[in-house]
Amino acid sequence: MYKHSIVALALLSMGAGTVYAACNKVPYTNRRQLRLIPNKVMLGLGENSFASMLEGKRLQTTGENHTTLNRVGDRVSKVAHQPKFNWEYAMIDDPTVNAWCLPGGKIGFYTGILPVLENEAGMAFVMGHEVAHATANHGAERLSQNMALVGGMGVLQAAASGSGRLTPQQQGLIFGALGVGASVGVMLPFSRRHETEADVIGLMYMANAGYPPEESVDVWDRMAELTGGASGPAFMSTHPPHERRQEALREWMPRAMKRYERNKLSGNLQAPLWRSGG
Ligand SMILES: [Zn+2]
Repeated sequence: MYKHSIVALALLSMGAGTVYAACNKVPYTNRRQLRLIPNKVMLGLGENSFASMLEGKRLQTTGENHTTLNRVGDRVSKVAHQPKFNWEYAMIDDPTVNAWCLPGGKIGFYTGILPVLENEAGMAFVMGHEVAHATANHGAERLSQNMALVGGMGVLQAAASGSGRLTPQQQGLIFGALGVGASVGVMLPFSRRHETEADVIGLMYMANAGYPPEESVDVWDRMAELTGGASGPAFMSTHPPHERRQEALREWMPRAMKRYERNKLSGNLQAPLWRSGG
């Protein structure tokens, strides 16, 4: 089983200031990563960005979509093992094809993505994928790379605690790094490595939660169909070609199937719940 452990902790002295640095391992892939931003700061950024992302949005707080999102969320979050996360799920009434998970487990799904998910298993995969961006600290890695552009650690700390004012550009960069930047106009595309990694971890999460993992491949097929190849919604335009990501999924599928067989939920979780053009 994956255990999220800090394998080394060091304080580096760089230039004028002291810089926090931790070496983490990414779930399942075990890639080692160096993070320059403390967890506490990331959790604060997640919390505040969640509030901003929901501002002025219509939320579905009852009904089938809401209930399904919460049920899938409970199952996926349980296998993601993040004791510091305070999970929340928002079903956003908006035709945009999008979904995200901010640090701390703040999750947004847009009604526009539901036909692509088609069923509960499809939702479990995309949720696993988005949760993986958060648990694999992709946002922290991207913010570390763009620290100078954002204006330094002080700016991030202020943003995390809700004090201090950000310029629209700084705010946009933070949103962009956390994967919710499409609507703000500043994109920091997740790299192919991050996307493939999120697919693999998401696949393992869905399988551990008891959802049939082969649905993952179908989700990217439906997404490709929707986007018709080259250009598509912001959610997809920065992602690797779907053939490439399906390759990684197939490579991990035998491992995912083993987890699934052990944790299999009852009932048909691939029964259509949402249809395109509906
Ligand atoms: Zn992604």
